[in-house]
Parts: sequence; C-alpha cells; structure tokens
Amino acid sequence: MAIVGYRQALHRSFIVCCICVAGIQFAQISYYEAKNVAEAVQALHWQGSFILALIPFFFAFVALYTGQRSILRWFMVVAAACTALLVAHLMAPFGLRFSTLELAPPIIMPWGEKLSGFKVSMSAWNISLRMLIMVITFWAVWRARGQYRRGERRSALLLVCYLGLHLAAFMHGALIDLGIVRSIYTAAFAFAAVPLLMGFGLVMDLDERSRTQARMLHELEESNQSLLSAKRDIAMLAHFDPVTKLPNRAHFREHAGKALRATGEPGLGGALLLLDLDHFRTINDGLGHHVGDEVLREVATRLQSVVGEECILANLGGDGFVVLCENRGSDANGVRAAAIHLANQMMAALQTPMQVGEHRLQVVASIGIASFPQAGAGPFDIFRQAEIALYRAKDQGRHTTKFYQSSMRIAVEQRLAMDRHLRGALERREFSLHFQPQVDANRCITGVEALLRWRNPELGMVSPVLFIPLAEETGLIRPIGNWVLEATCDQLAAWIHEGVEFGDHLAVNISPWQLSDPLFVEGLEKLLSSRSLDPRRLMIELTESSLLFDLEGCITKLTQLRAMGIKIALDDFGTGYSSLSYLNDLPLDILKIDKSFVRTLRSGERQPLASGIVAIGNHMGMTVVAEGVETENQREVLLEMGCEFHQGYLYSKPLEESAFRRWLIEGGSLSRAEAANENNPDQSSGFASPEISANLPEKFQRA
Ligand code: C2E
Ligand code: MG
Ligand code: MG
Repeated sequence: MAIVGYRQALHRSFIVCCICVAGIQFAQISYYEAKNVAEAVQALHWQGSFILALIPFFFAFVALYTGQRSILRWFMVVAAACTALLVAHLMAPFGLRFSTLELAPPIIMPWGEKLSGFKVSMSAWNISLRMLIMVITFWAVWRARGQYRRGERRSALLLVCYLGLHLAAFMHGALIDLGIVRSIYTAAFAFAAVPLLMGFGLVMDLDERSRTQARMLHELEESNQSLLSAKRDIAMLAHFDPVTKLPNRAHFREHAGKALRATGEPGLGGALLLLDLDHFRTINDGLGHHVGDEVLREVATRLQSVVGEECILANLGGDGFVVLCENRGSDANGVRAAAIHLANQMMAALQTPMQVGEHRLQVVASIGIASFPQAGAGPFDIFRQAEIALYRAKDQGRHTTKFYQSSMRIAVEQRLAMDRHLRGALERREFSLHFQPQVDANRCITGVEALLRWRNPELGMVSPVLFIPLAEETGLIRPIGNWVLEATCDQLAAWIHEGVEFGDHLAVNISPWQLSDPLFVEGLEKLLSSRSLDPRRLMIELTESSLLFDLEGCITKLTQLRAMGIKIALDDFGTGYSSLSYLNDLPLDILKIDKSFVRTLRSGERQPLASGIVAIGNHMGMTVVAEGVETENQREVLLEMGCEFHQGYLYSKPLEESAFRRWLIEGGSLSRAEAANENNPDQSSGFASPEISANLPEKFQRA
C-alpha cells in the first residue's frame, strides 16, 4: 500500500517505518538465537539502531497522517535527538537498553527442549528512551484528537486504535525489560496492526469514494437529463408558442417562406389566412391573463380541428393565428373559394361559447386572406396583404372575413396615420362631445346621447366608427373612455345646475373594454359622487359585444350599476352575434334598435325584423328606442309598430353643446341645414378629411 503511494511523504515515511519494524523484529530474532553475549550484544545494537531510526519516521508518519503541513523542523529535532542517542547506544557496551547482560542458565521446556537466555538489568537510558516514545505516543493521541474534531473521524479512530495497541505492547516490553514478565516482545506485532488498520481505512475510503462517485454519476445523469430537457424546452420555445403549443412565428416563417417561394412551380397556389380575435384585450385585461391563455388554448384546439393536414396553423403571438394552405392544381377562383370556405369553418368553430373556470365566454374573430401566387409578390408581400385584409375586416365592424384587394392598401395607410395621430390626441385636447336628443311620440325631448368627436388638425373630423375600434385595439380606449365619462358627468352637472331641460338622462357610450375593467363600477360611483350627481340622470349604452365575453360578469356589474340608479341601454340591438336568450337575464332599461333596421322601413311594407324587436322589447318591459330615424315616413312606421321613442337626423343631428342649447330653446326647430353647419362649421360634410371620409360607411358620408 505504501509503495503504491510512494510519491506522497506520508507513504514514504510509512515505508521507512515498516523497514525499521522489520529490522527490529529480525534483530529480536537474532537476540533470541544468540549463542553467547557477543552475538546478543550485536543483535541488541542492531535492534536499538532500528528503534532509533524508527522514532523520527514514526513521528513524521503521525504528523503527516493527522494533517500537519510543515514537519521538517520538528522532524530534524527528533532525528537529531535520535542520532545522538544512536551514537550513545553504539558506544555503550550492551547498547542503551541494558546496563548488564550475561548468559542465564538454560530453561528446559517440559517436552525437553533447552532454551538459552540472558540475564539483563535495565539501564537508565532505556527508561529515558521509553519516556521519549511515551511523549511521542501521547503527542500522537493529541494529534488524533484534533483530526477527530476536524471531522476526519474514521482516520482518527484508526490511529487511536493503533496507538492503544502500541501503548499496551510498549508497557509489556517495559515489564519484560524490568524482568517482571518473561515473554517475547510484542511491539512489532502491534505495529503490524498499522497496515491492517490502514488497509481497513483504505477499503472504507474506497467504498466511500465509490459511493460518492455513484452519487456524482447520478447527479451528472440528472443534470444531463435537465440539460437535455432544457435544450428541448429552448428548441420548443424557439419553434413553438408556449401557450398554444402551436408553431410560432419563427417556425411558421421558415415553412411559409419555403412554401411561398415554391409558388413559381406550375399549378401550385394557395392562400394565407390571418385570424385575430376581436376584443381579446377585453378578456385578457378584464379577467386576467390565465383566462386569456385558456381561451387561446381552446381557440387553438378548435382551429386545429378544422384546419386540414395540408395546411399549417401557427400562432403569431397572443391572439393572432395564421393558416397557410396550398391548393395544388387549383386556379385562382378555386383557391379563393377554398380559402373562404376554410375561413367560414374557422369562424363556425369559434361560435360555441367556451367555459373557462366560472366564465362562459363567446369569442369571435376577424380574418384577412391573401392568395398566391401573385406576380412580383414575395412571401413578405403576401403576408402583408393578408394583414391589410385583416385590418379591413377589423375596420368594418369586426367578426368578418376580408379577401385582400389592392384598394385596401390605401385604407391601411390611413389607419396607420390615424393611429399615429390618435396617440397624444387627448393631451392636445382634440376630443369634444356632441349631443343628440332622443324624443318621444310628441317630439318632446326624453334624453340626450353624448357622442365623442375627434378633430385632428391634419385628418379633420374623424368618425368614432373609425377611431373607437382603433383605440380599443391599441388600449387607448382606457384614457379616452375615462375622459368621455368625466366630460359627460361635468356636462350633466352643468345642465342640472343651470336648469337645462334635457329630459331624464344623459346617455354615454361605454366600450366593452371599459366595462371589463374590474374597477369600472367603483370608478363610476366615485365619479358621480365627486360631482354630487344623481345616478338616475346617467345612462350607459352598451353594445352586444360587451356582453359576449363574460355574460355572468357583465350581469353582476350591470346589476350593481342599476342598483345605484344608473340606467342601462343595449345599443345597436340586432346587429350582435348572440341569441336573444340572454336578454331575459340582463338588467336593461332601454333597447335601441340599430339604424340599419330603421333605414329600410317603408310604409305599407312588412317589417318583420324591426317589428319583432319592438315586440320583444315591449314584452320584456323595456323602453324601445329607434335610432337613425331620418324621415317622417320612418317615424310613422315606427309609431305604428308601437315604438314611440326615437333618435335621428329627423329631429336633430348630434350637435355641439352651444348648438344643442339653441336647439332646445328653439323647441327642436333648428333646421337640418343649420344643424349641419353647427355640427361642423368649416365643412359641409361631417368629416373633414377626404381620405377618411372616403372610407366611411355610406351612412356617415351622407351625414
Ligand atoms: P351609437 O352609439 O349607435 O350612436 C349613434 C350613431 O348614429 C352616431 O354616430 C350618430 O351620429 C348616428 N346617427 C344618429 N342619428 C342618425 C341618423 O338619423 N342617420 C344616420 N345615418 N346616423 C345617425 P357617431 O356619433 O358617428 O358614433 C358612432 C358610434 O361610435 C356610436 O354608435 C358608438 O357606438 C360609438 N361612439 C361614439 N361616441 C362614443 C364614445 O364616447 N365612447 C364609445 N365607446 N363609443 C362611442
Ligand atoms: Mg350609442
Ligand atoms: Mg347605436
């Protein structure tokens, strides 16, 4: 063992110790076999020399074994002392052990064997040598104690075991030398325990080391496993959306790039469909991201179920999804028909409400489609075209599918310009409120609706039909909506204070996004009490889309608002996506028939839709208000149907506050021409910017 590790000082000192002990033992044998005094003295000289050589190396061994670093100085001291003793030993007639030595009468053993022996007397040197060995032994015990305390318990205990044996053998040797005991010396046998103990220690060490290695191996395997799974996760994150587990934008770009580039091949065409959830922000902000994520997962599953194997479905991040379909052998018309069919299927897949926790949510989407190949259009252009078509779908009231047409590009550029101008419009005080009266069958005013107006120096007057959806998408609706509510309450307070006869209520439009704010009810309550307003004078108008996302949540909030006294109207009724079934559960005061139903009213013609809505509203005990009443004819038809409350250009356009007051004073006699001027003094059309008005729905251009 010592030779294997001979490079270390500890092992080298142990080798010397072993050699010395062997020497001592051989000398002891020679002593026992000595026939005369001279031979015995020679053996004793050898033995003493080995003992004195052993002492400094044993010292070194213990010091190194117990972890002492710098031993050279003390080793030299012990070695010098032992050298001095060695000289004295060799010069003494019988060595240092004995002062006298003579042949003793032989001992006859019971079996007849004759053993010769020597009669000796112990010298003073012997005692001092033994004292030195005792000192080194106790010093070794002290060192072992330190080692034990440092935590190297097994090594320390093994050393103490050996020192115990050594001490016993040493005492035994002293008793022999004193002539008290007649026996052979056992010190060397005690030393033989050292290799055994060291071997035992080594086995234990090896065992421990192999266990440590096994543990380390296990840890390495574990960390290797976690490294592999981290690599997998990274690869997954790099290529798949973490929420929906669908391929992500980067992954899609790679595949789509290849597919779109290959469109040069004859007979290979297809379509790119971009789907964006309408009002997803409302769900995310109103109900929390965990609900939003659940919705996205469900949407992904539903879309996947309708998108075939030949198409790639990917998530572009958040609520944006993309589908790429290749149709081999189809002409442009075939591609178009297939894409529209798929878009309809996707819309239909989202139709059924989804249950997320306690929320029952209805999700709708807009889809933009672009087809390929197109001359000179690369993958980026086709993607951009689908994006433009999607914007168009969003602009046109959402929940629609639009196929890209080159004329849409201009509209999108205007949209981007509008987005740029809309940011900061509030700070630049570009918003104002206009007011449109609501009247009864006798043309008496029953209430007023506040309508937001945006006049931008560059764009002119921009319709809320255009900028409200944009504000909803960009999140700007929050500050804008707050401003509208505050301005409405200020106006209400001023009119009440000044005794203006504006009917029962002032109505304000609330976007779904505002209603989904968990603090909406609380905020409105604070606002009303800060202006000391009677909540019964305020009406909020909601569209059906507000109710789509979280019907139960809406019912709770509306019930709270109604309990405060605030009136609630359902705006644009009949244009929404949902069934009438929820009407019963909603705490509503007013149902507003959308102007699209009013526009088509003609006397003498059957009007099943409009009359149906009026009948439902009346049946449920709600006041039905028709909006968009423009002609006397429409008024009469409505009155015949039993709809007595109207709002529309026939009575007044939405007016600035001062014009509205004049309208009131003049008993609603402000002429339509005057109203048009009042509404927009510098332009005869309601919306100044030709670009913007060019994109307005027909109804607004007529305004
Ligand atoms: P709405 O709440 O249904 O408002 C009625 C719209 O119909 C108004 O358009 C009004 O000018 C128009 N209108 C009224 N009478 C007639 C008529 O006889 N013929 C025609 N063709 N139109 C008539 P406006 O002011 O452009 O507002 C459009 C929509 O924008 C509003 O529809 C409302 O949904 C939204 N909106 C307006 N102001 C706000 C607001 O402050 N907040 C929110 N969230 N939405 C608003
Ligand atoms: Mg309204
Ligand atoms: Mg309306």
